Amino acid sequence: PATLGVLGGGQLGRMFVHAAQRLGYFTAVLEPDAHSPAGLVSHHHIQTAYDDPTGLAQLADLCQAITTEFENVPADALRTLAQSRPVAPGAAVVAIAQDRREEKAHFTACADVSRVTCAPYAVLETPEQLRAVPADLLPGILKTARMGYDGKGQVRVKTTDELAAAWTELGGVACVLEKMLPLTAECSVLVARGWDGQVVSFAPQRNVHEGGILAVTHAYDGALPSALADRARAAAVAIARHLSYVGVLCVEFFVVDDGSEFGGLVVNEMAPRPHNSGHYTIDACDASQFDLQVHAMAGLPLPQPRQHSPAIMLNLLGDVWLNAGGQLREPDWAAVLRLPGTHLHLYGKVEARAGRKMGHLTITGPDVSSVRAVAQRAAEVLGLPGLDAI
Ligand code: ATP
Ligand code: MG
Ligand code: MG
Repeated sequence: PATLGVLGGGQLGRMFVHAAQRLGYFTAVLEPDAHSPAGLVSHHHIQTAYDDPTGLAQLADLCQAITTEFENVPADALRTLAQSRPVAPGAAVVAIAQDRREEKAHFTACADVSRVTCAPYAVLETPEQLRAVPADLLPGILKTARMGYDGKGQVRVKTTDELAAAWTELGGVACVLEKMLPLTAECSVLVARGWDGQVVSFAPQRNVHEGGILAVTHAYDGALPSALADRARAAAVAIARHLSYVGVLCVEFFVVDDGSEFGGLVVNEMAPRPHNSGHYTIDACDASQFDLQVHAMAGLPLPQPRQHSPAIMLNLLGDVWLNAGGQLREPDWAAVLRLPGTHLHLYGKVEARAGRKMGHLTITGPDVSSVRAVAQRAAEVLGLPGLDAI
């Protein structure tokens, strides 16, 4: 059988492997960690650094096509692989998504087709730029230009003194300072584009973050005002097209007060891969974001996915395993699985740590109110904040 390759061994790689295997593919995962979620379930596990030439050559030899699940994978590794195999998404677009400066420049460059702008921001690379920051960007969020995720590499600042201290705290590396916007909601859109330019997309989902990490995704009609959802979906498609993107792309948006100068919708960032906010598609849609990634990279037709059930996804961070005293305990899965329409996904990570993504729970049902009621019950069982608290 043909083999599909993935750079990175995290949970996104694991769910990609599951989708590839369902279509009869073998898989190869390149991941330095011996006990990674994806490495453990793959036919081949190449255990080298992401930029190791021998590992990359082995991956290229084994595979018909290669993708990535880890957005901070060295773009050069994708460039090397692309010399001998189809690689999707490509090194150039991954490099844009890896650097907030380039990402924002791209969003700005295609604003006339996407009809969305990013939050006002300034690039900070030098002490001069720090001194020249316009006062109206404060209060703001200082974000490292590269390598940040799950709210890491970000500091919230109110004054120029706090900004200077935060920049030092982040190591004086290249950063962007973003104006803090009054968010009324957040949402994201998953788009898949094939080698032939065919584009399909999922309806936007509403996301609730806690401490910079995704906590809950609401995926059903009415989770977002429909005009806003239509705009977000069209914007994400325009952004993917403008990049000549191949594979699954997730675009995150902020929703701000309608009376604001930003017209309701602001583009936040993009992830060049399937995304945590799209995990509900496994259980609530007839094709998941991982199925589409397999199809896109393998050059198969992209089905327009159809959502057959309303869904809520609860992220299961390591905190769920930690009781008040900080002792590890296994959550009461039986109590969760007794609830109707619960789909439990655990990633096989050995060690639960606070803030670490260990799994997720998707709740599907016949209607939104029953899905909400079950999600509320599941949150109680797991000691998570209720749906209204966050
Ligand atoms: P991810 O894990 O999604 O890649 P990240 O670390 O790249 O996250 P961002 O998406 O930039 O971080 O920010 C994380 C969260 O912080 C956002 O989802 C939002 O809740 C909040 N946030 C970020 N920037 C702003 C802003 N300019 N105004 C208000 N809230 C913001
Ligand atoms: Mg990010
Ligand atoms: Mg984000």
